[in-house]
Amino acid sequence: MEKEIVICDECGSEYFKDTSTMTFICPECSHILYGYHNCNHIFKNERCINCFWDGSRSEYIKSLL
Ligand SMILES: [Zn+2]
Ligand SMILES: [Zn+2]
Repeated sequence: MEKEIVICDECGSEYFKDTSTMTFICPECSHILYGYHNCNHIFKNERCINCFWDGSRSEYIKSLL
């Protein structure tokens, strides 16, 4: 089954829609910003094979880390 790919409002990375609790924010950003469950990222070819996040971080996220 094809997974739906959407773009995170925060970091601008594409991700698989059904891997995030939030509708417009990827699992990584939703975890950092709101404490939601993160993906157990497994990177292959510079993307996570679980959630499709590409490792992008917004300036705001960087300032929180
Ligand atoms: Zn994001
Ligand atoms: Zn992931």
